[in-house]
Amino acid sequence: MITQESVQIAVAGILHETNTFAPGLTELANFKGEWVAGREAFYERYSGTRTSMGGVIDAADRHGIELKPGVYAAATPSGMVSSEAADELIDAVVASIDPEASGLVLIMHGAMASEQYGDLEGECLRRIREKRGAAFPIAMTIDLHGNVSPAMVRLADVIVGYDTYPHIDMHERAEEAFGLLVRIIRREISPVRSYSHTGMLVVPQAMMTEEGSMKLLMDRAFDMETNPHVLNVTVVGGFPYCDVADAGMSFIVTTDGDQELAERCASELAQMAIGMKDLFEIDQMPPASAVSAALAEPLGPVILAEGSDNVGGGAPADATHVLACLTNVQQKALVVIRDEAAVRRAFEIGIGATFEGKVGGKSDRLHGEPVMVNGKVRLLFDGKYRHIGPYMTGGRADMGNTAVVECGQLTLVLTEKRAAPWDLGHVRSVGLWPEDFKIIVVKSAIAWQAAFGRFAKRVIHVDSPGCCSANLRHFEYRQVRRPAYPLDAEPNLILD
Ligand SMILES: [Zn+2]
Repeated sequence: MITQESVQIAVAGILHETNTFAPGLTELANFKGEWVAGREAFYERYSGTRTSMGGVIDAADRHGIELKPGVYAAATPSGMVSSEAADELIDAVVASIDPEASGLVLIMHGAMASEQYGDLEGECLRRIREKRGAAFPIAMTIDLHGNVSPAMVRLADVIVGYDTYPHIDMHERAEEAFGLLVRIIRREISPVRSYSHTGMLVVPQAMMTEEGSMKLLMDRAFDMETNPHVLNVTVVGGFPYCDVADAGMSFIVTTDGDQELAERCASELAQMAIGMKDLFEIDQMPPASAVSAALAEPLGPVILAEGSDNVGGGAPADATHVLACLTNVQQKALVVIRDEAAVRRAFEIGIGATFEGKVGGKSDRLHGEPVMVNGKVRLLFDGKYRHIGPYMTGGRADMGNTAVVECGQLTLVLTEKRAAPWDLGHVRSVGLWPEDFKIIVVKSAIAWQAAFGRFAKRVIHVDSPGCCSANLRHFEYRQVRRPAYPLDAEPNLILD
């Protein structure tokens, strides 16, 4: 009998959504901004936040269990992880798992890939098993955009993915994973899992969980979870910009010892998704038409979702295809764009000075040419704020040095770092209010909704080139298992 006092639970993880089509490699230095090791640092950073880590802290408190935080590292989504960074990260995480711990909550993304590991999460689990053995209980949390491999499902005792997109339930899902882990440690449950893969690549714009096909799948998953033998049903939309064998939509069903039930549920969900395959297509407009349509709307703000430059998907955040159509705009428009050199220039010339120069388009040609602007520097800021919520409430955000430049009716927020529009702090921190603008350009597919959704009078998805384009036929896939819909005529269901 394991007494409560003897139970200690380790928590560790690596979070990166890898866009294999994005320019450049992701190095260890990219993880230094969020590299947390040990109990004190972990509690200092995450206590009281609505993050996965905050969820684990709260769950441990509620269960009266001692938490043993190891290494947790995260980086903003970006290009392929270098092989050195991958091995260092995995080594650090594996070495940091407390030897006294009775189990582990492993916080991962699910779509992390490095030069040598297409399935980095699977590799990390394999090394943990190598060190701690097959009987060591592991509960893993993943993002809704994970590309789940059979190895992950085989090596973790339970996998719990987010149920929401935009992701606002990380905290709750981490608590759920923690609760299941405690029941495994106490031998109250014996999880078995089944996994189904749809062979479909779905773009993030079609993965909103409050509407359409994803809502139907989530609702069916929640139905299945009302069966007392079903421990968890995870609907995974997949991440189509990470070109790996297992990219795409999949389902993981965990039951208490009932393999046949798990298989039946996983198979049903995959077949349901494949039956709706046409509904995952989205409507888009080219940039110039999108701007005209927005200006013709009686009320604003109209959100121009520039999903092809989705910061949350690994894009460079300096695409100019939409900006180029806004330089002479006659109604108030807002664009947040990364340009380190332009920020430096604004800081040099100072508040009130005239800013004249080219902005954006400096990463590569795919994301557009630099655009000439002329305006006045209105505000300079260090770019640090805490999330207002509901997404990762209390979590830290850092845009780097930031300059607000007003160019007629166009307000430009120039940031040193890639800044994702996941929280209202994105614009409120520089004194701007969404309601004041007719057009707001967001470098995001869907996650912007947590910040601006409540203000949006209309949303237009812009069809522009970029490493997160919603038109998947633009990309040259090399690794994904074929056939894969919509690259090929039909999806290919796999059950495991
Ligand atoms: Zn995600």
